[in-house]
Amino acid sequence: MSNVYIPTIGLEIHAELNTKTKMFCQCKNDPQQKEPNVNICPVCMAHPGTLPVINKQAVKNVLKVGKAIGARLAMNFTEFDRKNYFYPDIPRGYQISQYKYPLVDGGSLSGVEVTRIHLEEDTARSQHSSGDYSLVDYNRAGLPLMELVTEPVVKDAETAGRFARELQLLLRYLGASEANMEKGQMRVEANISVSKTNEFGTKVEVKNLNSFKSVEKAIEYEIKRQTEVIESGGNIIQETRGWDENKQETFSQRKKESSEEYRYFPDPDLPKLVLDEIKDFDEKVLSKELPELPWEKRARYKEKYKLKDEDIEIYVQSIEYGNFIDYVAKEVKGDEGLLKIASNYITSDLAGMFKETGIPDLSKLTSKDFASLVKMVNKNDISSRGAKDILKIMVEEGGNPQKIAEDNDMLQKSDEGELKKIIEE
Ligand code: ADP
Ligand code: ZN
Ligand code: MG
Repeated sequence: MSNVYIPTIGLEIHAELNTKTKMFCQCKNDPQQKEPNVNICPVCMAHPGTLPVINKQAVKNVLKVGKAIGARLAMNFTEFDRKNYFYPDIPRGYQISQYKYPLVDGGSLSGVEVTRIHLEEDTARSQHSSGDYSLVDYNRAGLPLMELVTEPVVKDAETAGRFARELQLLLRYLGASEANMEKGQMRVEANISVSKTNEFGTKVEVKNLNSFKSVEKAIEYEIKRQTEVIESGGNIIQETRGWDENKQETFSQRKKESSEEYRYFPDPDLPKLVLDEIKDFDEKVLSKELPELPWEKRARYKEKYKLKDEDIEIYVQSIEYGNFIDYVAKEVKGDEGLLKIASNYITSDLAGMFKETGIPDLSKLTSKDFASLVKMVNKNDISSRGAKDILKIMVEEGGNPQKIAEDNDMLQKSDEGELKKIIEE
């Protein structure tokens, strides 16, 4: 038998949205709150007689993501559904989610087609003890959560990782979510199957992926495991698997429930939404509110600044660095030669300085002073060694490079007569 199995991967990514309050009540949205059960109220605790109210900001965040990826927004009709299941982390006995009419459908990101993005509420946090009880913290219950589902079009782990990283970046650009994976603000589930034919194989869903690296490792592991199971005459069963970070392998958790078992139906407690009729959700207004997006920034830096791709990525990944190079570009009036020198200092020396502290602190260094330094280097007024020393002082204490150079006797003498005199002496 040939060994050529084609992997198919689809991602389901949850992100906790940036809002002041929870999805359906006035409780504070503070996922970092350490003290348990302080951000709770009768609504998110599902006391009888309470009614949920939709959080406008959460809806807006999801619509912005949709707009950014060129998706269709459900302007004519969208609704919330009840996803029924019984578990201590879900006080209502159902999760308010979206089923048939999600806020967003279609679109693509990083070359991967997106199926849909819907809005739902987060679950509480269970803490299982070794004794005969579990503790539940409801601070997280009812936090606004978006879920993005991709089409089964990803073919390898690297592409999946790239997609997830780009989504994180987009969410941060939009201010929609902090999307920190270690903090659980962004959670990735990977559906993986392998097949030798045109028909997809049975998929397995892997959860508990707490970093981009784990996403990639888990996918690679599953492709290998599934291939081996089939090669040795076995069958893949549709199930949910976890990722063991220590062993670097997936393990069986449970047979997956099919969607019918959730008995989805429209939540009668919530109004259906016609977004077109709500002023803040006007598509033109939404478009205008979008910032420059990561891929737009990449294109601009390439075209206008003519920088190397790897340098561009530093400015795209760090909004602070990006703003800084933009200010510097203004100071040097877009001069390509000066920008190149500037960028070299930023991506090597400055980035190097920040690596030690981990925090890029550009607070003392003004783009104006930095541009002056670059001009001095360009005119050979200072040596490159000297420039590095001056830059360090500028970052730590601030100040004008000309003055720092004079004070420290660092100006290079390029006057020939002057030099001759020194040599003769
Ligand atoms: P379910 O009903 O089990 O939730 P969906 O059809 O909603 O399945 O798909 C969930 C995710 O799994 C999507 O990201 C989709 O792209 C992906 N997916 C679906 N079928 C496969 C498959 N055979 N192999 C890999 N991924 C798949
Ligand atoms: Zn509440
Ligand atoms: Mg599904």
